[in-house]
Amino acid sequence: MVSEKRNSEELDFSFKCPLCDKGKIKISKTTYDVPDGDKMLIIKFECDICEFSNNDVIPLTANNTPGIITLRVTNESDLKSKIYRSPVGRLEIPELELFVEPGPRADFYYTNVEGILFRFENAVSIYRKNLEDDDVQIEEIDEVLQNLNEALKGDFKFTLIITDRGGGSYIIPEDESKYSFEKLENNELN
Ligand SMILES: [Zn+2]
Repeated sequence: MVSEKRNSEELDFSFKCPLCDKGKIKISKTTYDVPDGDKMLIIKFECDICEFSNNDVIPLTANNTPGIITLRVTNESDLKSKIYRSPVGRLEIPELELFVEPGPRADFYYTNVEGILFRFENAVSIYRKNLEDDDVQIEEIDEVLQNLNEALKGDFKFTLIITDRGGGSYIIPEDESKYSFEKLENNELN
């Protein structure tokens, strides 16, 4: 089942694009129902001329339930599932041994699974470039990059896990049958 979109509306404002200084910014607001019953508002800013676009996410109902959110990604369509990681959320793809640790400086970010894979690919590529030619890690790193490339085409199956001890992170799945949420009990929070 595809997650339901509702209340999508477009607003026209006459302010100029900060990037090209010529285009007009189009603002669209969409309210999403998250599988656990919460709602969030996504505001998208797009230039009608250049590539500029930006997203803002505002949780409309506070999800303060600490838990582990899991999404199985097995095809191209799953890559469009939306991800919102709060600064206390730990994001992990165990099959690729990649993760983003929470921390005071960790970004709030709103993207989709594909966006997460791009960020990882970029980070791993930079790491790879800085290795010496005879570094023992190269083989392993190249395999991760290979798997990331296949994942971006929907050809590598993996699990995306967000562990959020404060609540506030979301996944809006394309296919709800691949989504699960496991509540963390108080005694697991320390
Ligand atoms: Zn522009």
